[in-house]
Amino acid sequence: MQKLSYLLLFLILFSLNAKAQKPEKPTSAEIFEDIQKLNFLGTALYIGAHPDDENTALISYLANQVKARTGYLSLTRGDGGQNLVGPEIRELLGVIRTQELLSARRIDGGEQRFTRANDFGYSKNPEETLEFWEKDKVLSDVVWAIRNFKPDIIINRFDHRSPGTTHGHHTTSAMLSVQAFDLVNDPSKFPEQLKYTTTWQPKREFFNTSWWFYGSQEKFDKADKSNLVALDDGVYYPAFGLSNTEISALSRSQHKSQGFGNTGSRGSQTEYLELLRGDYPANGNLFAGVDTSWNRVKGGRAIGEILSQVENSYDFTDPAASLPALVTAYSLIDQLKDEHWRELKLKEITGIIKACAGLYLEATTSQELATANENIDISIEAINRSNTNMQLKNVVILPLEKSVEMGQNLLNNSDFRQKISINTGNAALTTPYWLNKQGSVGMYNVEDQKLIGLPETPHEFKAIFNIDINGVTIPFKSDLVYKYNDQVKGEVFEPFDIVPPVSAAIDEPVIIFSDSELKKIGVRVTAYKSDLKASVTLKHDDNWQVSPSEQNVSITSKGESTMIYFDVTPPAHQDSNTLIPEVNLDGNVYSKKVIQIDYGYIPLQTLTLPSQSQIVKLNIKKAGDFIGYIAGAGDVIPESLQQIGYQVAVIDPEKITPEYLDQFDAVVMGIRAYNTVDILKYKQQALFDYVQNGGTMVVQYNTARGFNFPNVGPYPLTLSSDRVTDENAQVRILDPSNEILNYPNKITDEDFKGWVQERGLYFPTVWNDAYKPVISINDKGENALDGSLLMAQYGKGHYIYTGLSFFRELPAGVPGAYRLFANLLSVGKSNEKIKG
Ligand SMILES: [Zn+2]
Repeated sequence: MQKLSYLLLFLILFSLNAKAQKPEKPTSAEIFEDIQKLNFLGTALYIGAHPDDENTALISYLANQVKARTGYLSLTRGDGGQNLVGPEIRELLGVIRTQELLSARRIDGGEQRFTRANDFGYSKNPEETLEFWEKDKVLSDVVWAIRNFKPDIIINRFDHRSPGTTHGHHTTSAMLSVQAFDLVNDPSKFPEQLKYTTTWQPKREFFNTSWWFYGSQEKFDKADKSNLVALDDGVYYPAFGLSNTEISALSRSQHKSQGFGNTGSRGSQTEYLELLRGDYPANGNLFAGVDTSWNRVKGGRAIGEILSQVENSYDFTDPAASLPALVTAYSLIDQLKDEHWRELKLKEITGIIKACAGLYLEATTSQELATANENIDISIEAINRSNTNMQLKNVVILPLEKSVEMGQNLLNNSDFRQKISINTGNAALTTPYWLNKQGSVGMYNVEDQKLIGLPETPHEFKAIFNIDINGVTIPFKSDLVYKYNDQVKGEVFEPFDIVPPVSAAIDEPVIIFSDSELKKIGVRVTAYKSDLKASVTLKHDDNWQVSPSEQNVSITSKGESTMIYFDVTPPAHQDSNTLIPEVNLDGNVYSKKVIQIDYGYIPLQTLTLPSQSQIVKLNIKKAGDFIGYIAGAGDVIPESLQQIGYQVAVIDPEKITPEYLDQFDAVVMGIRAYNTVDILKYKQQALFDYVQNGGTMVVQYNTARGFNFPNVGPYPLTLSSDRVTDENAQVRILDPSNEILNYPNKITDEDFKGWVQERGLYFPTVWNDAYKPVISINDKGENALDGSLLMAQYGKGHYIYTGLSFFRELPAGVPGAYRLFANLLSVGKSNEKIKG
């Protein structure tokens, strides 16, 4: 019984949630596609490591041409990458990429799943990957995904046999997939999962190969292909007016934080699948030997007969003509013993009945956020746009199970609206479940088996419209969503989220004390209930002094914020610690903050996260005051430098001239500036002239792939993809007397401790003798890399190129990184007065 109710929950919560907030309004041709999918009972699962690994053309082909239920299991949420749309990195970027994947799946027709593995950054091989991922847990999650999704075929994006040729996460995803295939049907493996699901044996496993994995097109052309299946996924869909490859490009273009905008192609395109497990499929049919008809299910034959009739006699000008047969089929599906197919197909046919009837059902609120125990109004709308008689019997609001009797006949094109008032009761927070508990570098901490793998936290508030059609009562479920009219965008739907009654946050995640002066630190308190009266304290270590110890706060209106300030005094010695704002409200302590991520192209994300800031006392000296910053792909160098007392001006690249730059003590290029800012091509000479006149120019990393910038430095310099991913890799000093290591801060081994994620990336490999390498680093078992920090004298000034990950270390408050960066900015100023 427990198993049954879980499966139901899984399907209902997951599937509706994945459809986002905007109601679907399928056309007659799209309804027909859905009827064809209803009549195909086969499932495929594609497995990769990251958002963007998936082959959207193949996923779309399987979902739209083959009509299979198709999933993409991305082991991670892509937290470790870079962000082209905004400042979010790490976990918040993972939230954005999760939503990008869901958007992609809404376009290509797939479904999305994850594991608890966290994308901790680049790793060179599976061995390194599995130092951070807990192999048993990630394998368990892959098995869990397969047992729930029950795919007939599994397709791996990567080759499990060639470690070291690609990102370690990639190879590991394929290795775990192959291992899972072999043990997923064994009840003695991960038996705790069998409380909620059943074992399963997929029929075949493939590797989605291409010429790339063979080294070159030429080698691939010559290779033995007897074990490969070739298929043409360049098909055209008249129902959508699009080629499969065009859909694929639209889907791929959802990876906006990675800048993967993609222009679609048309025409035939061959996809290759290498058979890894199972028998070679006859006629290139991936599902050969699998009964993908309704006969697959016990009691399905009669359903299949009715539904093939529906498919054959479908009237594109009058989809409602199919309603009587669909309602009969619904009743038969509802009686199936096979839980898996029953729940899946009930969901599909319910959607089809709704679409055929032109039935529009909506449950909305006019507020985006609510707390537990709050009274809210729900507006419901129901309209039938067919001649079929229907009666809305009642509406049930979940999770409260509040039933409101309606007894309303839904006549053709007659709109019915009503308001329902509810109290939210002990509603759970809707924040991403995988961020609730502190995880490790490589793993999210999720204990509830039922949540593992879900793309989002289930939003529990829903309306079930129980509608009687031809004597059968069908429950139509709609997520409760926030709806409003925007003067520019028009009708907007966003998630309806549950938040705590109060949020307290220090805006800066890291606060640097570069001297012994006290700082006024602001705590932003936001009320999510009206007439909030509370007191606020800052939990801190005894080394640090906080005054006053407690402050009262009172906020009248819901949604309003106020700032309260505490004096924080650091200890004399270098130290790193945390400050946690705590709000005492009605006898409860709240220590979380509510943040929102709003980029328009994904649903508004509301997160409730642990609220804490790192406080760092630095022993740091610096020379120079005024720094110019040229933004690249996005980093927080200006904010970080302001923290240690620099004035920073963000430079408009259009304005760059040597005279304009002359006001700055140093100019810093944001990460990937040359990759992302085209106009810099024409401004490079002006920058070099500034250096020649005595300026200091610090260039952070640029990616080597496709890099065609002619003169990144004043002397020749060649970038590569060399990187050091071990953040603890030993640092060897090459040039102990170099100014960078001595002035104004004496850099020692201590300064290379406590770094995060990596040492650096895209180091130059070849450089003119004018550049002096300063340090040497490498990952375990690899050659020494000397190009992470290069300095050249040019005219009266200095040019520095560095692939060291300052963009990660400074926001993380790494003391040594601050001291070293201050030295970069202070180069050539040893005869000036030192500040610190
Ligand atoms: Zn990847």
